[in-house]
Amino acid sequence: MFRIGIGHDTHRLTEGRPLVLGGVAVESDRGGEGHSDADALSHAVTDAVLGAMCEGDIGVHFPDSDPRWKNADSLQLLARVMWLARERGFRVVNVDATVHLERPRLRPYIEEMRAKLADVLSVGLDCVSVKAKTGEGLDAVGEGLAVTAQAIVLLERI
Ligand code: MG
Repeated sequence: MFRIGIGHDTHRLTEGRPLVLGGVAVESDRGGEGHSDADALSHAVTDAVLGAMCEGDIGVHFPDSDPRWKNADSLQLLARVMWLARERGFRVVNVDATVHLERPRLRPYIEEMRAKLADVLSVGLDCVSVKAKTGEGLDAVGEGLAVTAQAIVLLERI
């Protein structure tokens, strides 16, 4: 049986915060605001896995009112969701994700993001796609005020 899930996430960008995407530290003068490490890509992938299982969303599992998740490494949150997926008998078939960020350009970081996500998801590199787009100077992404990410995940029950 196959199940598909979609995830989306937005974080406001602010000075003095590290920018983390897919578990990779991206060199930037601004980073995501948030309770955890504000890793929008990992959050979107996590929500997609949860969505495929009809298991709610990241806020249900890791509420921002819980001090345990303060500055949490979001790849570790994804790893916890993957334990749940395995418990339910699911494996990841593939992931496709897009990060929307005006600057810096993410191309130099994409391979490392794919590798980190593939490792946590227990799939090969050829099963994790990460794409990067700018906001073309438009909207909150384009103005450099936000980072957003979308992800779609296919799970198979084995
Ligand atoms: Mg988030």
